[in-house]
Amino acid sequence: MSEEGNEIVLQLADPPNCPRCGGPGPVSAQFPHSWTNASGEQVPGIREATLYRVCDRDEPAAEGLLAFFALHKTLKPSELETFHDLSAAWVAVARARHVDQQQLADEYERSRNGEL
Ligand SMILES: [Zn+2]
Repeated sequence: MSEEGNEIVLQLADPPNCPRCGGPGPVSAQFPHSWTNASGEQVPGIREATLYRVCDRDEPAAEGLLAFFALHKTLKPSELETFHDLSAAWVAVARARHVDQQQLADEYERSRNGEL
């Protein structure tokens, strides 16, 4: 699950707790996340998301992956393809959510500066 400059790292063993509420999740993901700073420069960074049944409820991609973890305590080779598809869908949602938060922060900053 990687492309040039687009590395996604899943952590299944002892993942960090949910960054939103501190709850324990079955898996976390690290993915590249760059933003533009005040000088207009691209700043590369890494973001992290943890799958957690409370914070990720009502999210179809997250619920699909949560259901997989509820059914499968261990990851068998025959289930890797399903796991790959479910986790890729969840990571895509988690990445989009971070972008939204960055946009909100940008708009808040601009409104404070009287630009909106
Ligand atoms: Zn949470």
